[in-house]
Amino acid sequence: METPQNLAELLNADGFKSIPKSFIREILKVTAHSDIISFAGGLPNPAFFPVQEIQAAAMKALEKDGRRLLQYGESEGYRPLREYIAARYKQKHNLEVDPDVILITNGSQQGLDLVSKVFLNKGDRVLMERPAYLGAIQAFSAYNADIRTINLLDDGPDIERLTEILDKQKVKLFYGIPNFQNPTGISYSIEKRKQVAEIMNRFPSLFIEDDPYGDIRFSGENLPPIKSYLNEQTILLGSFSKTISPGMRMGWVVASKEIMQKLLIAKQLTDLHSNNLSQRVIYQYLMDNDFDNHINKINETYKRQCDLMVEAIMEYFPHDVKVTQPQGGMFLWLTLKESQNTMELFKIAIKEKVAFVPGNSFYPKNDCHNTMRLNFSNSDEIKIKQGIKILGNILKRNSS
Ligand code: PMP
Repeated sequence: METPQNLAELLNADGFKSIPKSFIREILKVTAHSDIISFAGGLPNPAFFPVQEIQAAAMKALEKDGRRLLQYGESEGYRPLREYIAARYKQKHNLEVDPDVILITNGSQQGLDLVSKVFLNKGDRVLMERPAYLGAIQAFSAYNADIRTINLLDDGPDIERLTEILDKQKVKLFYGIPNFQNPTGISYSIEKRKQVAEIMNRFPSLFIEDDPYGDIRFSGENLPPIKSYLNEQTILLGSFSKTISPGMRMGWVVASKEIMQKLLIAKQLTDLHSNNLSQRVIYQYLMDNDFDNHINKINETYKRQCDLMVEAIMEYFPHDVKVTQPQGGMFLWLTLKESQNTMELFKIAIKEKVAFVPGNSFYPKNDCHNTMRLNFSNSDEIKIKQGIKILGNILKRNSS
């Protein structure tokens, strides 16, 4: 049968009319198999994928319990893995989490979709940071949310503005990334965490705390999740993508019992349950290895890569460029002069074989043209120096 002529009419689900395509995933296609130095993707450094340990864990898990782990599993996820995650919250943050309210998901990105599915009706207001994580903009847009933003300052969201918005408008969800935000690398200070919790507590809205980078801290002190101040009103998302492997697609959601019941239904209708094999292999890996030691090694290297990138920026970029100095995560965020357009600079940079993400994609209305995101985790030290020097020259040539 031929493609129906009215395909465009058929292919018009409401949510997908407004959903932006991920510019980043498009860039990734271009940079994956080329000699381009890419600061564009959000890829962890593959040198730290524990290939041999995962291989050993897979062998062991399959030998021990092969028939069970190739079978369908529970929608909630593998119970011992959920217990492990709960115990880790207790150990790291003294946060009590019942394993019953942890749902294992196909990466934390799926958590965002499931949360959107159970909460959002057309036009419901969702508050995001400005700039915001693109994958979350996509997830909320697919459910026709009315997205509003709130400026992210150096130490977290603009609290006055948050109060003003919550006072005046009915907001259903406030989505934030308190640790090493994507795209900026900014973290909320402890005061801001308490203030956000205190303000949210006065309104009938939920806080979606997305925390895929919390373990990737390479300087400063660990700070408590907002959930520890705003327990039942927070939905906390976590992931093994940045610490073990993004390809295994393992994440989780922590929510109240009532919310969990709905999320479970959403999970069932989406994919029944997360990949049983991945769950069991990750669990076996966690049982047989020193996870914190593994994380420390990642963080030592990321710190070096981050420091080197910041130093190179100081050396090669025009001095009016503002750059964040994160204590963890995988990204730096640059703000150039008002007159600069990073999408135009991107086109020049690609010709000179360097890629970055123009910041415009991280604004739901695409209304900011002079920012860019640089990833430091996936390039070695030589490429960082080379790439930043090339970008610096482009910026200098094009700054008037
Ligand atoms: N949230 C944020 C803030 C992210 O940066 C990412 C990864 N880019 C995700 C969620 C999704 O991660 P995953 O699905 O791999 O856990």
